[in-house]
Amino acid sequence: MIINCLKGVKKAGLFTFLIVGLLFWANSSWSQNSKEKSIVYFTKDISPEGVMRIFEFVKDSVKGKVGIKVHFGEDGNSYFVPATMVEPLCKELNATLIETNVAYKGRRRETATHIELARDHGFTFAPIDILDEGGTLSLPIEGGTHFKTALIGKNLENYETIIYFTHFKGHGSAGFGGCIKNASMGMATPEGKRDMHFNDFPKTDSTKCIGCGACVRDCPANAITLNPLTIDKEKCIGCGKCISSCPVKAITTPDDAEQTKRFLEGLVEYAKPVIELKNSIYFNIVISVSPSCDCSGNPKKPFVPDIGILVSTDIVAIEAAAHDLVDKAHHCDDAFLEANSVSGKHQIEYAEQLGMGNSDYKLVNIDKRKYRKK
Ligand code: SF4
Ligand code: SF4
Repeated sequence: MIINCLKGVKKAGLFTFLIVGLLFWANSSWSQNSKEKSIVYFTKDISPEGVMRIFEFVKDSVKGKVGIKVHFGEDGNSYFVPATMVEPLCKELNATLIETNVAYKGRRRETATHIELARDHGFTFAPIDILDEGGTLSLPIEGGTHFKTALIGKNLENYETIIYFTHFKGHGSAGFGGCIKNASMGMATPEGKRDMHFNDFPKTDSTKCIGCGACVRDCPANAITLNPLTIDKEKCIGCGKCISSCPVKAITTPDDAEQTKRFLEGLVEYAKPVIELKNSIYFNIVISVSPSCDCSGNPKKPFVPDIGILVSTDIVAIEAAAHDLVDKAHHCDDAFLEANSVSGKHQIEYAEQLGMGNSDYKLVNIDKRKYRKK
């Protein structure tokens, strides 16, 4: 009987030990996971009110003078995020709209015409600062393989917080353009932009060309001639617009995987010192998701329905979350690979590798009733 009693005590002890162990494991695993994930807020409310409501969740991160990095949209482009979406936020923060000049022909090349274009596109409610008007800010890139220095618009120095109010959409050379591209190409001087595009020439197949002329109209460097289809490498600045313009894939990203990888990694490296220099908040506005970027004057039509607005303080998490939502809407693993024949996902992997953020995220849908008090 004593032996049976001891057996009972042993069994009970073992049982208690197992339960306690299980609870400890579950608790530590949960807290580890919850610690690892970055928060990305999401709303389907695509409106200025939706912007203001989602901003409530990150507004405590704002410090000092605020610059809001937008894209004013190329002449002929109607898919850029409308000015009305950012107007209340800009007014609330007494912020300045910031941009940089581009390296190619058009109204966005010079400050005066760039600002005129912005006003024509409705950005009339706030001061506009073209950052490279003040010169170049050379920022050292820690841990970069392709670049040692990022050439950024000098007026960035005038702000303490930068809000990247980004249109998440496709890009002919980068697969997609989101906050990483907005913080790199979007903040660089024209010289910095040329650095990133260096050697990024598209591939042509004249047998597929139907002579529609879209690429010639869209090329900002007058680098394309037809019959036969040819790209002048002396003139080409590697912007990738012709890839997005061509309806029959006669112009594509080069098969050279190393060249594509280098371009994507160059974007990430340029973004790194920029986001590290200033307090940064990220919006991805996932609407009008064209395969083409907002620099295209002749963009292709959006290929998924409008999705919503995301906000985070983690640039890697917000890119991963926006990409996942577009993939889900397009019912595939990589919507931009299908749309542009180039995957941009390496931007996310490489940014995480350089310690810029965390691709493991938690999507918080603020449209749920429990978040409505905000
Ligand atoms: S990538 Fe295409 S559109 Fe851009 S400059 Fe070169 S040829 Fe012109
Ligand atoms: S867009 Fe494509 S099909 Fe049209 S002219 Fe250019 S290469 Fe040819």
